[in-house]
Amino acid sequence: MAAKARMDSVGELGRGVKLLHDPVLNKGTAFSDEERDALGLRGLLPPRVHTQEEQVQRVLANVRAMPTDLDRYLELVALQDRNESLFYRLVVDHIEEMMPIIYTPTVGQACQNYGHIFRRSRGLYISLEDRGRVAELLGNWPHRDVRVIVVTDGERILGLGDLGTDGMGIPIGKLALYTACAGIHPTQCLPVTLDVGTNNESLLEDPLYLGLSRRRVRGEAYDELIDEFLQAAQEVFPNVLIQLEDFANLNAFRLLDKYRDRLCTFDDDIQGTGSVGLAGIYSALRITGRKLSEQRFLFLGAGEAGLGIGQLLVAALMDEGLDEEAARQRCWLFDSQGLVVSGRDAIPYPKRPYAHDHEPVTDFVAAVEALRPTAIIGASGQPGSFDEGVIEAMARSNERPIVFALSNPTSKAECTAEQAYRWSEGRAIFASGSPFDPVELGTQTFVPGQGNNAYIFPGVGLGVVVSEATRVTDEMFFTAAKTLAAQVGEEDLAKGRIYPSLTRIREVSAKIAAAVAEIAWTRGLTERERPGDILADVESRMFDPAYASYV
Ligand code: NAD
Repeated sequence: MAAKARMDSVGELGRGVKLLHDPVLNKGTAFSDEERDALGLRGLLPPRVHTQEEQVQRVLANVRAMPTDLDRYLELVALQDRNESLFYRLVVDHIEEMMPIIYTPTVGQACQNYGHIFRRSRGLYISLEDRGRVAELLGNWPHRDVRVIVVTDGERILGLGDLGTDGMGIPIGKLALYTACAGIHPTQCLPVTLDVGTNNESLLEDPLYLGLSRRRVRGEAYDELIDEFLQAAQEVFPNVLIQLEDFANLNAFRLLDKYRDRLCTFDDDIQGTGSVGLAGIYSALRITGRKLSEQRFLFLGAGEAGLGIGQLLVAALMDEGLDEEAARQRCWLFDSQGLVVSGRDAIPYPKRPYAHDHEPVTDFVAAVEALRPTAIIGASGQPGSFDEGVIEAMARSNERPIVFALSNPTSKAECTAEQAYRWSEGRAIFASGSPFDPVELGTQTFVPGQGNNAYIFPGVGLGVVVSEATRVTDEMFFTAAKTLAAQVGEEDLAKGRIYPSLTRIREVSAKIAAAVAEIAWTRGLTERERPGDILADVESRMFDPAYASYV
């Protein structure tokens, strides 16, 4: 597929310098002698022909030589802008080293400085001023076969808050992972930022800010832009999957509810996080040897991530035989006002089903002591909130306390891996949203798992794209969680790692994609004919960043 897509494009996009400046087709010094003669490149490149592997060695050395991660990010962005195959070869072959740079945590730092480090535009910006002509803007995108859009309005970028259009780094980074982790062709991916203003004072005052210098619009004007964008995207790119990304709580749930049965769309912060969280719990239970129905979950943070995991846990508990009410009783929420209890006034609708009878508790340690949860799941964006007292309380009531500090980026994690292991005397089963290095404690080495939805959305997206599914369902995320958990080996668990190694991400994504595609066919969500071997079909469609020959 990779070779064919490029061969087609060579015909369209021509030769010489133009070819060297086309990041999709450019191979730099790897153009062969025959290609140089045939494509008008002779003399435009130094004489020596390098292999892709040699080029990887060069860029890897350059990236490593950079003084900071943000510099590494910029080096990688520049590479992506001039030679996408080489960029993806590097990322795929060195995924553990590159993912923290192109994605969390470094992408967060990049977004916080976006206006100041901006070099070359990538993705599509659609602002309030474009109302009425969004389809025209989408038509300006140079590629016609777009299959995945990641769209944000920049209001809740990671745990960093409102970054306005400077949040564009997130759709770009996520789509890079769609390609690197699941082989969706780069030309089929479109990052979009909807500029509806920002309420971030420092951005409004910053002359280098890249978005509209105005406060966020709410209400009808906002909804109209979203609606126009979603409709236009379906028209301009039929069959496109639209991932809603980093919308603030007040819009995320209602947009998902409004569009999930009308369009091929999902919210990664709610559903993707739900799936990766559930997968981590399934793996953790293989370590404790306990059943899901014996667990009690306490969430710190009752937003998109916390509720997304809660909703999928309820589905999983019901799958184990509990009724819905009993399943919800296993999940407790603690938000910025304290424990979410039934007596509290005006509980917003997504939290309401989890508001159980209990006296109000405003201190998290007290909530842990009162409820004695088997697992605490941090999705609050509040660093340090799993302090020594919290972890010790968990370790007192559990032989193997489950502690997930999922907030991103690393600076927002509820606790570090080292803290979780040390304060629980090495008994915690820990996962975090951003990566932490292995931790040595006495004679033991613990390898913390990265509970990041990067394990889920690329595979789910690939399954939807390959099957041409018209909807994305909760069942797909539930199945993705089970498929991911099944990929964790005994050797992983022995080290405390509850997710498979990232080095296996393409294999894992292919399996998730096949399981998701299977659902599309079983549930009649696609008109595409079912292939005999779905996994083989999925694998055959994955983009491989190896260079194609053009002659
Ligand atoms: P959100 O804004 O929807 O929710 C945040 C929640 O935290 C709210 O319920 C809020 O009341 C609560 N909160 C804020 N301050 C608090 C405090 N002091 N004590 C207790 N609760 C407090 O945000 P979200 O989308 O749920 O994201 C939350 C965090 O989870 C972010 O840091 C985000 O990066 C992270 N996240 C991680 C992943 C992953 O894959 N690991 C996926 C999605 C989100």
